[in-house]
Amino acid sequence: MSTMNLISQDLPPRRSRIATEVDFEADGRQCGFLSVPISTHESAYGRVQVPVVCLRNGDGPTALLVAGNHGDEYEGQIALVRLIQTIDPAHILGRLIVLPAANLPAALAGRRESPLDGGNLNRAFPGDPDGGPTEMIAHFIENVLLPMADYALDLHSGGSSLVYRPCALVRDHGTPEHVAKTFAALAAFGPSLAYVTDGRNQGAERTFHAAADRCGVIVITAELGGGAHIDGEGLRLANDGTRRLLHHIGILAVAQAACADRPRLMRVEGIASYVLSPEDGVFEPCVCLGDDVAPGALAGWIHYPDTPWRPSSAVRFRSGGSVVCQRATCATKRGDCLFQVLTEYQRQQ
Ligand SMILES: [Zn+2]
Repeated sequence: MSTMNLISQDLPPRRSRIATEVDFEADGRQCGFLSVPISTHESAYGRVQVPVVCLRNGDGPTALLVAGNHGDEYEGQIALVRLIQTIDPAHILGRLIVLPAANLPAALAGRRESPLDGGNLNRAFPGDPDGGPTEMIAHFIENVLLPMADYALDLHSGGSSLVYRPCALVRDHGTPEHVAKTFAALAAFGPSLAYVTDGRNQGAERTFHAAADRCGVIVITAELGGGAHIDGEGLRLANDGTRRLLHHIGILAVAQAACADRPRLMRVEGIASYVLSPEDGVFEPCVCLGDDVAPGALAGWIHYPDTPWRPSSAVRFRSGGSVVCQRATCATKRGDCLFQVLTEYQRQQ
């Protein structure tokens, strides 16, 4: 038997090295930090202080609300800061755990990844208690916070490089009861557009959504805008949708105005859903978010200002559907995502 096997068999499960003074079992309002150990030239025995707020009022369901998973996505960060400043334990039944800047170093830097370790939190799950700060945060969320939760909401946008039409995504699997609760929560959150993922796209099993799914938590991810600025409709969905969801699951007593319509349900058709840039150049889009497009339709052009006599390249959609996401900036490298389209999804009832 190798030494490695002896080590893995003999040691107990590794515990998180993150400390917090917040007592998640106590009633009332607690504002504090997840203290993530870090040792750098500037701070040998330092701690990254990730803010966390816990509101509890007796027994009831627990919701975990997260933003700043990517630091350059702002609608969710603003909505959760507002929620923290305006909600009181007397307003709720059960427990609310809020992480408005989950990857704090990334949020402070206004970047997708943490400048401390290059970590993309939404590609870091299930994390590592002995890894870098991003992996430690992922591990704490999956092993400490999510096991306390019945419901979870992860508020994203397209970040600096993409712009999303505000929408939400869910998975359509699990027990009939789990699926029914998921779609009821989605309807309460109230996006006009939602898409169903099977977990095989982009972040696969490394995302917060996948971690919540592993923990048996009812989870919604929202994409609320992007381009590192604020989308008005996305911010409204973040503010109002979060409160509608909390009322729906019984945590928030005050009723919110319900959404009149069910979301249009869509799905991702694998890699063909993404239009990629064939070359480095300047991207000119030819369609808008929300447009319905056919396979082969013109998506945009790549121009070459460094050799302006070179013919510009037409870029076309591979699968048809509704345009949900486009590149936010014109300067483009080969392989950058220019558009994402969604196709209609029929639920098996
Ligand atoms: Zn994101």
